[in-house]
Amino acid sequence: MGREIDHIVEILNFYKTLGFHELPQNFIQSLVGQSCVSVSHLYHNDSSKNPESLMEILNKEIKQCKKCPLSNSRKNPVCGEGNINAKLMFVGEAPGVDEDLQGRPFVGEAGKLLTSLIEKMDFKREDVYITNTVKCHPPMNRDPFESEISTCFGYLKREIEIISPQVIISLGKVATYTLMGMNGKLKDLHISKLRGKVFFYNQIPVVPTFHPAYLLRNKKDKWLTWEDAQEALRRLR
Ligand code: URA
Ligand code: SF4
Repeated sequence: MGREIDHIVEILNFYKTLGFHELPQNFIQSLVGQSCVSVSHLYHNDSSKNPESLMEILNKEIKQCKKCPLSNSRKNPVCGEGNINAKLMFVGEAPGVDEDLQGRPFVGEAGKLLTSLIEKMDFKREDVYITNTVKCHPPMNRDPFESEISTCFGYLKREIEIISPQVIISLGKVATYTLMGMNGKLKDLHISKLRGKVFFYNQIPVVPTFHPAYLLRNKKDKWLTWEDAQEALRRLR
């Protein structure tokens, strides 16, 4: 049966390369013949549904995205990066100047601090998944507008679905506010009031903590971030 399915998938892929994106149901049924293979089974066999391919499709969309005005000022959109099977995911705010230039998340000074936190938690940077709430750099490093956050949110939502982490650490108030469902006004929130309370996003525990850029300016709060990191570690299986 497996070989038959491979053969049918091969035929369907051949038609796809010819530019057919849909084929009549009766044509597919004629390929399947009298066997009990369902058409949906064929599509489950489709390699485009595996996490690597889904992430590739997502990142391609992000790289071409012009859905919000940040696309006019960015140099490079910044996709998430890391282990596609990561148990632990970090969500920052938006790319800074260094990230905009390099097209990679958390590569500047705040990124160095984040990397040292990850290593203190006994992971390597490549073990976890690191992304941002919005994928393009806001001019003058301002906070992203609520309209930009909601326009971009679909990408973060899909990243979380693909990675399906056991725990998310939200870095700063923008990521925390977004994953909490954007209730209330962003400008009225402060991360010191949000941290210390775990909440759930689609049943995934989210541990809010300070943004590393804030910690660079407020070193005395680093110990609170370490407490939050330990809370996240306790929730990993
Ligand atoms: N700050 C962020 O929130 N994200 C980055 O990628 C870099 C700095
Ligand atoms: Fe698209 Fe998000 Fe970039 Fe806006 S910030 S252009 S929605 S990728």
